[in-house]
Amino acid sequence: DKPSVVVVGGGAGGATVARYLAKDSKGEIDVTLIEPSRTYFTCFFSNLYLGGFKEMDDLGHTYGTLAAKYGINVIHDWAVEVDRGGKTVTLAGGAKLPYDKLVLSPGIDFVDGAVEGWSVESQNAMPHAYKGGSQTELLKAQIAAMPEGGTFAMVAPPNPYRCPPGPYERVSMVAHTLKETNPSAKIIIADPKDKFSKQSLFQEGWGKHYAGMVDWIGSDFGGGNVSVDPVAMTVTIDGEETKVDACNVIPAMKAGRIAELAGVTEGNWAPVNAADMSTKADADVYVLGDAANQGDMPKSGFSANSQAKVCANAVRGALTGSKVFPAKFSNTCWSLIDTDDGVKVGATYEATEEKIAKVDGFISATGEDSATRKATYEESEGWYAGITADMFG
Ligand code: FAD
Repeated sequence: DKPSVVVVGGGAGGATVARYLAKDSKGEIDVTLIEPSRTYFTCFFSNLYLGGFKEMDDLGHTYGTLAAKYGINVIHDWAVEVDRGGKTVTLAGGAKLPYDKLVLSPGIDFVDGAVEGWSVESQNAMPHAYKGGSQTELLKAQIAAMPEGGTFAMVAPPNPYRCPPGPYERVSMVAHTLKETNPSAKIIIADPKDKFSKQSLFQEGWGKHYAGMVDWIGSDFGGGNVSVDPVAMTVTIDGEETKVDACNVIPAMKAGRIAELAGVTEGNWAPVNAADMSTKADADVYVLGDAANQGDMPKSGFSANSQAKVCANAVRGALTGSKVFPAKFSNTCWSLIDTDDGVKVGATYEATEEKIAKVDGFISATGEDSATRKATYEESEGWYAGITADMFG
């Protein structure tokens, strides 16, 4: 019998690990990928959709090539239970799949009660748009429906969360849209943090392109003391209530629920060994991407993809005796501030006993010339094409 690997979650981590395992093992390993959605809409570049630079169709990817070209058994269903003793995964449809190795890359879920007044039942009135697809479309429609001079509010999340620059790129892209369609509109951000990713670059860009439009209220100014009323459409920041016209609530996050059900989490995330992404709780269960507590890497699609390649190499080695290379990781997060004004931050990493540890990094500078910023944006376009091909074949 061939060894079998079950992968839960067909996103940046899961699709990549499934594809590399199937491609590199050349039929020696049976690979099954469990993913409920038939089309995966990337969160990456979803802010550019809000800014009018991308269409929703540009962000959708399907699983046909993973099945047809790589022989992966793609099952569109939810994993609902993991029996680590019996080494099986149960699906919502009832099937029970045995595994030799299990890889979980379920992304994020939200912490209950993280923002007073908000719950997933109110996500239609106040979208999070932090999982891809319909939520992002809803938020875009709400921005388009804002009255002249109206107010857009964002409740930003506490660390750690997926895509550290994501909320601030989003503010930039919403401002870009409003500047064209509704230039007297205002944006307020209530933030439980006192600083954020690429802050000086974003704040420079907001001043330059969207002067007077964006008001960031960090924790030092009461930004963390926030509640919302999704029926009245109000946001109360440090005791001061504001009527808003669109409100994007991005709550605190935790590992996708199946990681918790599998019993491999500690607190909100799943601790893993940096060398192969196996969990501290179980050497045959691996966790990739946002759900993992791995050390220094930010939670990003780039990081999940990078971790997936390390994991695929290690899992294949464990199951077939193929050569295992020392773990090396990298990440870059690009953000678009306005047309052709792209910035980036990134680093390389290695595995230590304790964690994925940063080796060295880089970040765009304030005051860069427009040719550099345009080149940075174009690099991000190349990255998007590259990572989606790496995930879906
Ligand atoms: P995901 O890609 O979310 O995949 C998880 C998958 O698991 C989902 O498809 C889900 O349906 C499935 N799943 C969950 N539970 C189950 C279950 N029980 N059974 C079966 N399937 C399940 N990253 C970048 O690198 N660059 C960017 O520019 C960037 N921009 C971003 C902008 C925004 C607005 C947001 C929200 C995120 C952005 N990210 C970016 C972050 C990136 O989207 C995530 O870090 C990345 O998708 C994480 O990959 P993952 O595999 O952990 O989770």
